[in-house]
Parts: sequence; structure tokens; C-alpha cells
Amino acid sequence: MNETQLTKLIDELEAGHTLTETQWIRLIEGQTEDVQAYAASKAVAVRERIYGRAVYTRGLIEFSNYCRNDCYYCGIRLSNRGAERYRLSEDEILDCAASGYELGFRTFVLQSGEDMYFTDDRMEHIIRRIKEDFNDCAVTLSIGERSRESYLRFREAGADRYLLRHETADESHYGTLHPKEMSYEHRMYCLKTLKETGYQVGCGFMVGSPGQSAATLAKDMKFIEELQPDMVGIGPFIPHHGTPFSGEPQGSVSQTLYLLSLLRLLKPNLLLPATTALGTIDPRGREKGILSGANVVMPNLSPTTVRKKYELYDNKICTGDEAAECRGCLEMRMKSIGYFTVTDRGDPKKE
Ligand code: SAH
Repeated sequence: MNETQLTKLIDELEAGHTLTETQWIRLIEGQTEDVQAYAASKAVAVRERIYGRAVYTRGLIEFSNYCRNDCYYCGIRLSNRGAERYRLSEDEILDCAASGYELGFRTFVLQSGEDMYFTDDRMEHIIRRIKEDFNDCAVTLSIGERSRESYLRFREAGADRYLLRHETADESHYGTLHPKEMSYEHRMYCLKTLKETGYQVGCGFMVGSPGQSAATLAKDMKFIEELQPDMVGIGPFIPHHGTPFSGEPQGSVSQTLYLLSLLRLLKPNLLLPATTALGTIDPRGREKGILSGANVVMPNLSPTTVRKKYELYDNKICTGDEAAECRGCLEMRMKSIGYFTVTDRGDPKKE
């Protein structure tokens, strides 16, 4: 397809038309600087219509890096003997939330490896305490695959949102990123269950993961169109030295930005973070993400003593900064491009 045909597809997407999988492949394969710039300008206009220039912030609390899974891409995978394991106590988690609250955060994202030390009872207790102490805040969980009963219990305890990246919507690609103990089917089951149990749901994938292609990305777009999540987290794949994918090339900044724009056009009111991974491979990655249609940033609230240990990929940024520094830094970065961070729960707006 030539650029005129591609910009026409982008116009159709903007007008709310559904693209076929083949059209998605063409659009993804056809990325050029001009097409990307065109998509970004449309995406920014759509985002401004719904969210203005407000950027939502989420305080990220990485509370454990123990994990029972062995995902080939991830630095905290079970088999990585080089990972120094830690878990925060319940009081430490509450302290992170308290200092985050002081700094103005009204959403806390509790993220960890799949650490079964945090039983349903323990998780429920933590969620209840956060919701009691900070009743104007939203709690997002990002703790992986659990049973329907667990998801229900956490929801009843007050959890509002759940982030579980689908990683890829192509079953055989999923199989090349994960060991056989993990299944595509179960991941999909979890996402469906999370939706049914009333969470605001986030899915997502890494850009440039080994084995990814325009065809698998087109499936991701169709999957997102079908699931209708509230959030989609995407960031470049970055190799970690202690994983089977240590020698694989990292994902590209420009493809990540292009996909952010296309996602904004696919679902105008999406909550779309400019991720830390994007900021890791490009010093102005998060600013560029916002300028491509993203509207969320997730500064880190974890204690500096454990920051470096939650290492999903190499060279992760902001591992030395106090929460307040992270917050200030992002505020300044957003200001530098004419945007501002806001203090509220940051729920999705109606289109
Ligand atoms: N264990 C939880 C959350 C932690 S991992 C869960 O499974 O949901 C959060 C996300 O980080 C993963 O979903 C994955 O998409 C991303 N990630 C992991 N390793 C990465 C890497 N090497 N490069 C970029 N992103 C990575």
C-alpha cells in the first residue's frame, strides 16, 4: 500500500470503522515516518477531545519480585538465579501508599511476580487496609493469573482495576514466549473473568518481542477491539541478561509510538500509559508517548532499597529516585511538552 492508501485507512479508523485483520497488517507493515506522524496527529486530536492535556498518574508499588512463572523474556522469572528476591511487608506496602497519597496519588498499582506467599487472605487484607485509609483512591492489581474465586474476593475487598497483559493474541506466538506450564487459553480465561467480575481491565503486550510480526500485532489489535479493555499497556521488549532472550534485539521506539497512536484511534477513551520501558530505551520516550496519544504515566513508589531488584529488563530507569523525585520529574517532563499531571483517580471518560 502507498502512503495515500495508508492515511485513508487511518482516517477510517478515526471515523470509527472496523478494520479487517488484513488491513491491520497493511497498516502495521506500512509504517513510514510520514504515516506515523499522520497517525500521531490524529491520535493527539482524539485524546485532546476526550482528556484534554491532562495526564493521569498512577503510583506503582512493586511489592514482590518472587515469581512462580518462567516467562522467557522476564528478568524476575523463576529460573533466574541472579535475581535477588524481596517482598515488602504489609506495613511497608501501606507506608508506600501513605507517602504516595501525600504526594497526590489517587491510584495505587500493586504489582508483583506471581508470589503465592501473598495468599488471597493476605491480598484481601492489604486491599481493605488501603481502601480504608485512602477511600478516595483506586486500587489496581497487577499480580498475574489467579482463580475466579480470588478475583472475586479481591474485587469485593475493593480492588477497582486489574492489569494483566495478554502478551500476544496469537496462540503459537504465546507458546514461544512462555514455558509449556503456561497457557494462552488460561490467560484469555483470566481476562474474560476479570471483565465479568466488574474490574476495569487492562491488557497489553511488548512491542518487538521475539517472534512478533505484523500478523501477530494485527491479532492483538483485533483482540483489543473485541475485549474492549479500559487500559492497554504497551512498551518495547528489552532483553534481560539473565533470561533465554538475553541476545534478542530490543523493540523499537518508533513502532511503539506508532502502535500507541493506532490504539488511541481504535478506542478513543483508552487509558494508555507511556511506560517506563519506553523511557528506558529513549531518554524522552515517555514525552514522545504522550505526543503520540498516551495519557497516563506510572511513577514508582517502591522503596529505593528494592527498586533495582524489580528488574524485568536491563537498564531500567528511575531505580535510584525517591518517590517524590519521580513524581516531580514526570511533572516537569509533562510540563515541558505542554501537558500537566492531575490528582484524581483517573477513571476512563465517556467518548
Ligand atoms: N507478574 C505480573 C506483573 C509483572 S510483569 C503479571 O504477570 O501480570 C509486567 C509486564 O512487564 C509483563 O506483562 C510484560 O509484558 C512486561 N515485561 C516483562 N519482561 C519484559 C522485558 N524484558 N521487556 C519489556 N517488558 C517486559
